[in-house]
Amino acid sequence: MKIGERWKRAFELSRKRITPSRKAIVEVLEEQRKHLSAEEIYSCLREKHKKVGIATVYRNLELLSQMGIVHRVNFGDGKEHYEIARIPALHHHHLVCTVCGRVIDYQDFRKEEHEFMEGLGRVLETKYDFLIQSHQLYFYGICKDCRLKEVGE
Ligand SMILES: [Zn+2]
Ligand SMILES: [Zn+2]
Ligand SMILES: [Zn+2]
Repeated sequence: MKIGERWKRAFELSRKRITPSRKAIVEVLEEQRKHLSAEEIYSCLREKHKKVGIATVYRNLELLSQMGIVHRVNFGDGKEHYEIARIPALHHHHLVCTVCGRVIDYQDFRKEEHEFMEGLGRVLETKYDFLIQSHQLYFYGICKDCRLKEVGE
C-alpha cells in the first residue's frame, strides 16, 4: 500500500497535509522497521538524496507522533527514538535492559498476551469512551549478559 493511502485518513483527521518531507520520514521508518533517532532518520534521508533539514525532521517527528503515525520510544537512555505505529505486521513489544540499554523487540506473542491486550483495550474503550488506535508495551529489566557480568565482578 502506498504511504499516502495508508495514512490519508490520519492526516485528514488531524487536518494536516502529507508534505514530501512527512512522506519521506514515514517511508524511512517503514523501510527500516526499527527504532531510529532523528539523526539516523536524517542521514537515511540524505542517502536517498531527499532535501530535508534536521530541524524539519525534528518538527515533523513531533507532529507524526502526535498524530499517532509514529511512536516515540524512550528507553531511559535520554535519547528519543522513533518507530512506525499501527502496522499490524510490524507490531512488537519490548524488553529493555536498564543496564546496557539493549532492546529486544519481540513479535512471537503468546496467545494469552494477545487476548489480554485486546480485552483490556475493549474495557478501556468502553470505560473512557475512547477509540484506541495503538499501544506500546515495555518490560524493563536486566538482560542475560548484564546479569552474568554482575556475578563475575
Ligand atoms: Zn501489542
Ligand atoms: Zn544489558
Ligand atoms: Zn519497538
